[in-house]
Amino acid sequence: MSKSYFKTYPNEKGYFGEYGGAYIPPVLEEEMRKITEAYFKISKSHEFISQLRSIRKHYQGRPTPVYYCNRLSEKYSGRIYLKREDLNHTGAHKLNHCMGEALLAKYLGKKRLIAETGAGQHGVALATAAAYFGLECEIHMGEVDIKKEHPNVVRMKILGAEVVPVTHGLKTLKEAVDSAFEAYLKDPINTIYCIGSVVGPHPFPMMVRDFQRVVGIEAKEQFFDMTGELPDNVVACVGGGSNAMGIFSAFIEDEEVTLYGVEPAGRDLSVIGEHAATITHGSPGILHGFKCYTLQDEKGEPAPVYSVASGLDYPGVGPEHSMLHDLKRVKYSSATDKDAIDAFYELSRLEGIIPALESAHAVAHALKIAKEHPRQSILVNLSGRGDKDIDFIVDNYGLPK
Ligand SMILES: *Cc1c(COP(=O)(O)O)cnc(C)c1O
Repeated sequence: MSKSYFKTYPNEKGYFGEYGGAYIPPVLEEEMRKITEAYFKISKSHEFISQLRSIRKHYQGRPTPVYYCNRLSEKYSGRIYLKREDLNHTGAHKLNHCMGEALLAKYLGKKRLIAETGAGQHGVALATAAAYFGLECEIHMGEVDIKKEHPNVVRMKILGAEVVPVTHGLKTLKEAVDSAFEAYLKDPINTIYCIGSVVGPHPFPMMVRDFQRVVGIEAKEQFFDMTGELPDNVVACVGGGSNAMGIFSAFIEDEEVTLYGVEPAGRDLSVIGEHAATITHGSPGILHGFKCYTLQDEKGEPAPVYSVASGLDYPGVGPEHSMLHDLKRVKYSSATDKDAIDAFYELSRLEGIIPALESAHAVAHALKIAKEHPRQSILVNLSGRGDKDIDFIVDNYGLPK
């Protein structure tokens, strides 16, 4: 990997290798071009950088700690560390890019933020950012997710956001993206679409990655302070891929660090519609305005996807991940619902940390690595906390004996 990774990717047209780009209607092309230009200018300005830095420190509670898991490491004979993104204000890494996107919106003179949400974490984070900056906020959410993630729906409303239920198709994340995009198309001048991950047309995958880089930059320094070395392995769950890009970005040029992206294997990896393992089981295609690995049915339409973790059930994945897979720089694997639930309880009971079901996929894979490579260190990006999942888990899976 060349030293100039961040200068090389994405290229001017927003491509990471053959992935990414912007496959969008002409009305949006002009808007995306404006946003890209403004982003390059504004994000380099001293004022923007110092404002964002101050927000992260005084409002979000950054830096979040890196924690060594004593009891978990002992039980699994590994050395497991967590980057505690669950301790971010609102309980997940998503505020990292939401505050960045909303600050950019403010600089661009936008009045309203529009977005989709799966588990509701992105919606809550964006509604929080909107409240902070005094912007209007409209969140599109599938009806299935609305039922499953009730507390987050209430949170968004309390924060002053309008929640738009999406009632077509499978009524989950993919349909919510379609619906939010349509709403954005109606008024691109006053609104900005704040996408929830490193997906969508250029410049979103780049912007969201840049806003998430803080996770990796902090974690690398913190891990080095604690151990005097680099981690042997870095593990993150991959839905769209923002928390993973956040932590991976700091280690991409350190070839000795093995990077693992963990996709949701759901109930059954061999049945389409029963998982959302986009990279490990998909093929390149175009979805929501960009090229990436996608899960498709026989007709080439986006396939139905499923995971116990609503934040991971998306039939596409970030273009940068698609490229890193082809380059073999990141190893992509998967964890099943059951693996994730087991890891959820292990971390809760051995460390007193209740992880988000999404993050539990990464923890599950870390436990596997620990068993296979007992002496190696493993840094897991604990992307969020599990408060939102507790009722669902106990109702559906019960408490372990
Ligand atoms: C949304 C979410 C994810 C998945 O999104 P990525 O863009 O893949 O990071 C993972 N963990 C938590 C806690 C989330 O809220």
